[in-house]
Amino acid sequence: MAALLKVRLLQAEQQTVESLASVDERTREAQHPDEIAALFGDAVIDEATFITERERDLATRLTLQRDLEQIRAALQRVEHNTFGYCVQCGALIPERRLLTRPQAALCVPCQIQVERHR
Ligand SMILES: [Zn+2]
Repeated sequence: MAALLKVRLLQAEQQTVESLASVDERTREAQHPDEIAALFGDAVIDEATFITERERDLATRLTLQRDLEQIRAALQRVEHNTFGYCVQCGALIPERRLLTRPQAALCVPCQIQVERHR
């Protein structure tokens, strides 16, 4: 079980790193709207579209970065043999929860509490 979840975490880490790289790649390309216009024609990309996509990329980037932090924190817990326990109250996190979200750091009651205080 723990070994399977570790593999999943490593896969998730890999995927997140790749997604971040592709967002960065897009952001770099998008820094030159004139070049994009030259490639696709002025009609395809107007300023509003450009700004919206840039905002979306930034939001995506923040989400991916947060995911990556959580995944890496979970991998740390695997190393320290504390994986699968809630970081707040120490309760065992149900297997079902870990299978859908291996980077989960909190048990469900603690998660609900945190979300309520947000
Ligand atoms: Zn808890």
